[in-house]
Amino acid sequence: MKIEFYRHNIKTEDIKRVRGVLKSIFLTTGDVVSEFEEKFSAYLSMKYAIGMTSCTGALQMSLVACNAGKGDQVITTPMSFCATANSIIHSGARPVFVDVEEETGNINADLIEDVVKKNTKAIIPVHLYGQMCDMRKIKSIAKKYKLSIIEDAAHAIEAERDGIRVGHKSDMSCFSFYATKNITSGEGGAVCTNSLKYANLLIMLRSHGIDRSAIDRYTKRYKHWDMPVLGWKYNMDNIHAALLIGQIDRIDELWKRRDRLWRSYEEGLHGIKGIKILKTLPNSRHARHLFTILVDPKKRDSILRSLQRKGIGVAVNYRPIHLLKYYRKTYGYREGDFPVAEDIGRRTISLPLYPGLKDKEVLYVIKTVKEVVG
Ligand SMILES: *Cc1c(COP(=O)(O)O)cnc(C)c1O
Repeated sequence: MKIEFYRHNIKTEDIKRVRGVLKSIFLTTGDVVSEFEEKFSAYLSMKYAIGMTSCTGALQMSLVACNAGKGDQVITTPMSFCATANSIIHSGARPVFVDVEEETGNINADLIEDVVKKNTKAIIPVHLYGQMCDMRKIKSIAKKYKLSIIEDAAHAIEAERDGIRVGHKSDMSCFSFYATKNITSGEGGAVCTNSLKYANLLIMLRSHGIDRSAIDRYTKRYKHWDMPVLGWKYNMDNIHAALLIGQIDRIDELWKRRDRLWRSYEEGLHGIKGIKILKTLPNSRHARHLFTILVDPKKRDSILRSLQRKGIGVAVNYRPIHLLKYYRKTYGYREGDFPVAEDIGRRTISLPLYPGLKDKEVLYVIKTVKEVVG
């Protein structure tokens, strides 16, 4: 058997929508992006969504929007994809890490206050694997020290915890439509916010900082535009937006299937010696993005190889950011700095999880994992 780590869920109707754009005259940021933005913000019950080319760009623009830059510090977790911390460096600020909770792998909110300094500007919590951080606690810390909150919600569009949805307790929330995410356009991202000020700023920042959009310049009579701020080039185009619209319509259906598969994994692997599964918190809706198991760190790499040899696609999410070469070199981080994140990083294996995964494939993965670990 060959079981891919991930397969996307692009349907004929999505391809039809893309074809429609390709046959039209206007390929870049226009009415299809607007349609995507309306749909996406409506799904999240947020006022504004701004389409970007990636979540990395979305995070960086959000940091710029809340004025984080040179001389500032931004707090985040070492247990994430390097994009989270890289976006802080790109903004000019310095990333400051806080260790994670053993139970969930999410940033340990109880440790955040210890690292807040005068020049701390923002916190970027990451909802790891699709499970939300403790946004209530993080919000109260942010309030106390007047910090902005930017959520890295790349894993967590569908998530909710204690009645709080993603995006609802932060200044801005950032999403990814990268090739392996819950919904995808190959590459893509978005920022959601309820602030008109941030929304207007982000719309400029994604297009060089200019104050008239390409579609206005195309559809309306020519007017001179100006550039009040320095921006970047991170605007989502109509082609990518077209791929996402149908997936937003199906998003809860896709989640239901992943939830079902997740439960099969949990049942099949529960109580097996040598396998630990992170906790799904009560009172929450886990977005079910990545299913991971924790194994003996001494055996992890050989288990990975055995699973691959038996045709199963696997991944490691993540080796902690602070131990990546650049971060060690630039900031002097060492082993032992964030022991909980390091422990997860040494033990974690991600298994295939996507709506197209068949029941018999999950059973094969469970059977094989048990064999290989045992
Ligand atoms: C994928 C991912 C990103 C980066 O998303 P891009 O759209 O590829 O820039 C950021 N943070 C996390 C947690 C991710 O998994």
